[in-house]
Amino acid sequence: MSTPVSPSPARAPLMSLDDAVGALLAQVQPLAGLETVSTFDADQRVLGQDLVSALQVPPQDNSSMDGYALRAADVTALGTVLPVSQRIAAGHAAEPLRPGTCARIFTGAPMPAGADAVVMQEDTQTVSGNIHGVHINTLPEPGQWVRRAGEDVRRGAVVLARGQRLSPAALGLVASLGLAQLAVVARPRVALFSTGDELVMPGEVAPQDMPVGAIYNSNRFFLRALLKRMGCEVSDLGIVPDRREATVAALKSAADHHDLILTSGGVSVGEEDHIKPAVQQLGSLNLWQIAMKPGKPFAYGTVNRAAGAPVGQPCHFIGLPGNPVSSFVTFALLVRPFLLRLQGALPDASAALPQPVLLPAHFSITQADKRREFLRVRRNAQGGLDLFPNQSSGVLTSVAWGDGLVDKPAGHTIAQGDLVPYFSFAELIA
Ligand code: AMP
Ligand code: MG
Repeated sequence: MSTPVSPSPARAPLMSLDDAVGALLAQVQPLAGLETVSTFDADQRVLGQDLVSALQVPPQDNSSMDGYALRAADVTALGTVLPVSQRIAAGHAAEPLRPGTCARIFTGAPMPAGADAVVMQEDTQTVSGNIHGVHINTLPEPGQWVRRAGEDVRRGAVVLARGQRLSPAALGLVASLGLAQLAVVARPRVALFSTGDELVMPGEVAPQDMPVGAIYNSNRFFLRALLKRMGCEVSDLGIVPDRREATVAALKSAADHHDLILTSGGVSVGEEDHIKPAVQQLGSLNLWQIAMKPGKPFAYGTVNRAAGAPVGQPCHFIGLPGNPVSSFVTFALLVRPFLLRLQGALPDASAALPQPVLLPAHFSITQADKRREFLRVRRNAQGGLDLFPNQSSGVLTSVAWGDGLVDKPAGHTIAQGDLVPYFSFAELIA
């Protein structure tokens, strides 16, 4: 008979990722502050108010071709000759079209009153001799090659809605309405620090002089870059040693002037993990064990502000796991939607993740895992996905090599050729 094994101490049940995202987003009130920025500088900012167009774009009917503006009804047969009564270049006003004539016209030039179509110059032939006219070698339809006034933007239309993250194309659209400045949501102010006595900053100690047990701080570099991509103003507070008082002091000084304190490491439950007691001392903290791989430990809390600090929301606290891949993936799946919501850009929690694309796996995973897994993969030239061979949560190469994540549900295996949901980093960390 086998020896009975004493049961391990009761553990809190794991939380699903969707529940964790929902619980996290429920804590966020979008930032109320707006600021006015130049349209030039508004890429990736979140629009603070609806943009209603005061004008129509294009402002007048205009030609979409180099050619001749005319009345379609004046061309009764192929080869009809029409005298050229005026020349209209882009940026110049047109005279009304004299009946029975055409106007030389260029792309973007306003249509003359009375004309209803443009014939492209390839469909015409200059009349030889001294008549200033052209043969029209096509039977034009009314409206052809004419861009209608207001076909892009109608006057009074909501062109872009509050909460929209601005893209380069959106900036061009805003400029087409004549707006040189925009009201955008204030940038979230984020204090970032790393915990861990083993951490050394690149540049401070040369590789050959690294003491045993020391490693370079890599999380600081990608977290800072990810925060900036999300439109945050980052205060990088460096490395906090693994001591309770040092952790408390760092949190306390950051809370007053930031919307979020983001840390990495120290959220497991080992005795060197000082984040939990420090945040609890200054506010409140929930340690979540999320049923995902990589990235199980994750902390959310709030840190109280000193009396006299600007009122409003509490300072949010998010503690990411220390393992670099876990830190990266939990940022993409949890912190990104949190920051979008903070900027009023994620009204609906169901959009916390981008839409996955189904792609064929060019690999197999025969062992199912109890947790939902996010595998580092890369698209290949055949339109399938290759898997990075080492999926350990410490192997940052997998993320730098990969271009996205495959979402593998708990208890699932993957066979060669299976269609699997794929999230590209281009969308996940943008
Ligand atoms: P922790 O969550 O603090 O127990 O850390 C888990 C693992 O991640 C350990 O192997 C740490 O050395 C490593 N780690 C923690 N923080 C960082 C960091 N900023 N850069 C690189 N590795 C880290
Ligand atoms: Mg640590």
